Amino acid sequence: MKALIYDGGLKISEIEKPVPEKGMALVKILYSSICNTDIEIIKGYMGFKGVLGHEFAGEVVSENSRFYGKKVVGEINCACGKCLMCLNNIPKHCFERGVVGIYNYQGVFADYISLPEKNLHEIPEGLDLLSAVFTEPLAAACEIFESAGVRPDDKVFIFGAGKLGLLIAQVFKLSGCDYTLFARSDARVDFARSLGLNSKKLADCGPTEKAGICVDCTGNPEGIKIAMDRLLPRGTLVLKTTVARPEKIDLNQIVINEYKIIGSRCGPFAPALRLLGSGLVSVKPLIAKMFDFKDIIGAFEYAGNPGALKVIIKHF
Ligand SMILES: [Zn+2]
Ligand SMILES: [Zn+2]
Repeated sequence: MKALIYDGGLKISEIEKPVPEKGMALVKILYSSICNTDIEIIKGYMGFKGVLGHEFAGEVVSENSRFYGKKVVGEINCACGKCLMCLNNIPKHCFERGVVGIYNYQGVFADYISLPEKNLHEIPEGLDLLSAVFTEPLAAACEIFESAGVRPDDKVFIFGAGKLGLLIAQVFKLSGCDYTLFARSDARVDFARSLGLNSKKLADCGPTEKAGICVDCTGNPEGIKIAMDRLLPRGTLVLKTTVARPEKIDLNQIVINEYKIIGSRCGPFAPALRLLGSGLVSVKPLIAKMFDFKDIIGAFEYAGNPGALKVIIKHF
């Protein structure tokens, strides 16, 4: 099968089609999308080498699978089921995990992937495949509510109106929180407002404007400082950015202001699928461009442009 391999450079190679072990299913990839994490990996993040990609919608082709013939999305943490974290029902922090296309596990920029059946979720009737590709990042947006203990009367600042920020802001809009999505350019503020979001230019955020929850999803190393500068004492800083070259921060500010720092990664797929299936979150306007798989290297160049929205790869 064909796959996009990263080994210091990107190339499409012919590799062996995976053979699913017991409890796993072979998924034919139909659509995938490029995430900021993929862009950071090719800058050195995680030191990953192999088949990239973790956001997808596909069809199960293993005849012996209970998902056979079904359209699915898949969670990206492949857990051992035996370690302390797994036994505590936190498989995303499994000590032995592989993470699809990021760490010790083949990715989805390929014709097929073999995944544990427990990672699969059937795409509900009526939800189109292109929207379903957004399940993984939308689940990551939903995760903030779990880890930061968000309440409807919280005031929230979201920094970074990129692919993830626009999803996070949509989820906060549904929560009833007093939220603001900060963007760098007028064009992005206008775009966010066209999605019905409360958005403002970062330059127009006065130095005394602060919130009890600040989310950094800028995707830039300096985002954490911007978000921390706007956080009220005893506030919660939610970090979504992962970069190849992290920034240093002044820990004194965390002590003095008694900040809570929350790292936030993958989230729950079921609520994300419900939000997509019911049309409560709109994702189609976030698609910048679609490329055929054979043009995926060009797709990476396009997706690497600052501020680029979602780039979709068509695999059929
Ligand atoms: Zn992603
Ligand atoms: Zn485990």
